[in-house]
Amino acid sequence: MLGKDYEAQDCSLARALEVIGERWTLLILRDAFFGVRRFNDFHVHLDIPKAVLSDRLSGLVEDGILEREPDPEHAGRHLYELTAAGRDLWPALHALLVWGDHHRAPNSRVFKHASCGTPLDDHGDCATCGMTPAPQDILTEPHRGRRALRHDPVATVLRAPHRLLEPIET
Ligand SMILES: [Zn+2]
Repeated sequence: MLGKDYEAQDCSLARALEVIGERWTLLILRDAFFGVRRFNDFHVHLDIPKAVLSDRLSGLVEDGILEREPDPEHAGRHLYELTAAGRDLWPALHALLVWGDHHRAPNSRVFKHASCGTPLDDHGDCATCGMTPAPQDILTEPHRGRRALRHDPVATVLRAPHRLLEPIET
C-alpha cells in the first residue's frame, strides 16, 4: 500500500499534504464549507464509498480539521464541523477552484461577498470593500444558466444562494 506520509521531505507542504492530500479529502472539505455536516449528506452528494468516507472523516477528526459531535436529532449519529484549523483551509480551496476554472473547466458556482454581493476576485478578495471576506461572509450560488447535473438533496439545497458554513438541512 502506498504510504500517506512524506517523512523525508522537510517542507510544510509535505506536512499539509499528509492531512489533505488523499483522494476525496478536498471534496469532503468543500462540502463541509458548504454546510454539510452529516455522514449521509456527504455520502449522497459525493457518491463516495461509505468505507472511504468513514476513513477520511475519521482521519480529518484525528488531524484536528473536523470536529465530531453527537447529532442531537439522530441518536447514535454524528455531526462534523470544521475546526478553526479546518476553516483556515478556505484560501487553499478557493485557489484550487480558481486554478481549475482557468485551466480545466469553468467553475459551476459563483462566490460573493455576502454583505455587498460583489463576486470574489481570483485572490478571494472583495474589490468593492477592499478586504478578504471570511468563509462565513461568503455567499455561493450556481452560475446563472448552468444546467443542474445533480439532483441529490444537498445539490437541491445548494441551488439557492447559500452562505458558507451555514448548516445544510436536507
Ligand atoms: Zn464587499
